[in-house]
Amino acid sequence: MGELSTFPVSYKVEGKRIVIVGGGEEALNKARLAIKTTASVVIISPEPQPDFAELPVSVLARAFRPDDLVDAALVFVACTGADGEAAKAAARARGIPLNVVDVPSECDFYTPAIIDRAPVSIAVASEGDAPVLARLIRARIEAALSPNLGALARLAGGMRARVAELLPGARARRYYEELVTSPEVEAAFLHGEGPAKAEALLDQHVAEGDSPGVVWLIGAGPGSEDLLTLRAQRLLQQADVIVHDHLVPAAAVEMGRRDAERILVGKQKGHHSFTQSEINALIVRLAGAGKRVARLKGGDPMVFGRAGEEIEALKAHGIDYHVVPGVTAALAAAADTATPVTLRQVSTGFVLATAHGANSEELRHWAALASAGLTLALYMGKSVAGPTAARLIAEGASPAIPVGVVVRAGRNDRVLYRGTLGSLSSGATALEDGPAIIFVGEAIAHGDWRQANALARAEFKVA
Ligand code: SAH
Repeated sequence: MGELSTFPVSYKVEGKRIVIVGGGEEALNKARLAIKTTASVVIISPEPQPDFAELPVSVLARAFRPDDLVDAALVFVACTGADGEAAKAAARARGIPLNVVDVPSECDFYTPAIIDRAPVSIAVASEGDAPVLARLIRARIEAALSPNLGALARLAGGMRARVAELLPGARARRYYEELVTSPEVEAAFLHGEGPAKAEALLDQHVAEGDSPGVVWLIGAGPGSEDLLTLRAQRLLQQADVIVHDHLVPAAAVEMGRRDAERILVGKQKGHHSFTQSEINALIVRLAGAGKRVARLKGGDPMVFGRAGEEIEALKAHGIDYHVVPGVTAALAAAADTATPVTLRQVSTGFVLATAHGANSEELRHWAALASAGLTLALYMGKSVAGPTAARLIAEGASPAIPVGVVVRAGRNDRVLYRGTLGSLSSGATALEDGPAIIFVGEAIAHGDWRQANALARAEFKVA
């Protein structure tokens, strides 16, 4: 993500003036924006267009004077010539934020495209680079938001004092969450029964008492923020605490509520900041204290994610939990390379295995499976890739079996390698940094590995 050169804020204009210097089409456009606020909007131009008469603005049909800026919160200059120059100079002298229409270099602020559901406003801005794009985004957001949104926000605002008195912190938030998302409240609105429904919901929350905590074991996918499920995204928004590993993309962690606590529990090779039993104890303690915990894991939580141990601990303490699947690294790697991990006549099965710490018996099984055509996806195997390939060959797998490696699968910066068990065992190529999936099996040759680097000179043909 790049850095913004502007900082979006909601700026108070109530009781102040918004002064627009100019009387043409551009001044009219700014006036239409300005009248969405409670500020008094003043148009100054010797020759204002007749259209201003239809807007709730005061028109001063004369030249600009510096004392026109008394009590001004914002100034727009939408004309050229002496009037425009005088207004710019006066605004700068008084330190009033200035917008010179269509001259970004002279602007202190830009006007975003606005979605108005007062008191809720959504501003879409592009720092002046792409106003057309901002307007298209606005149209999409407009379409997604109920026209009742503003009234709903006012309703929530009206409940604040009572909620603060009756419900403590986290429970108050849950109340508001339900109030603003519940289809029943929305329906009640249409019949003018919003306030009664809000009261009934408050009674219900007060009666319920403290709700028990819960742990959601959530798969974050292989590292792209758009390879998360909608359910994962929704639960992240509801969590009080997010407990995550290193492999989880920052963008996924960011999806959580802004004020959710975030705890990084490590699990980077070589840097064990938390042991597994410490993680188990942590999530048990948090959920035991009534928190809603998102335990966010790379890929799928049930695949080499040690979810089994965490679930055992949660069960032992009687804590409620749910598992939300994610795209596991091997499937992201299959997608990246259009590799059909099962394929009629070629591969009748797909095995997810770990190469790390595998014993001879396991390697013998895998060698047999790969020889029978099944596709192996080896996790945690990069640092032992060469020796693992050599051991599979020693256990009877043919050196000619195709191999494909995907480093950083599912991300834009992935790197691919293709070869055979023989070429992988030679250790000829140093693999790039990052997590990797090693595929072994005939089906690999049916994928699209055109972008792949060769592991050694003579490699499998690309289909
Ligand atoms: N639960 C995860 C796996 C965690 S074990 C999942 O379902 O994907 C960690 C191993 O997963 C790494 O050593 C690597 O083999 C694999 N891995 C995780 N993310 C990966 C990625 N983006 N690309 C390739 N391999 C990845």
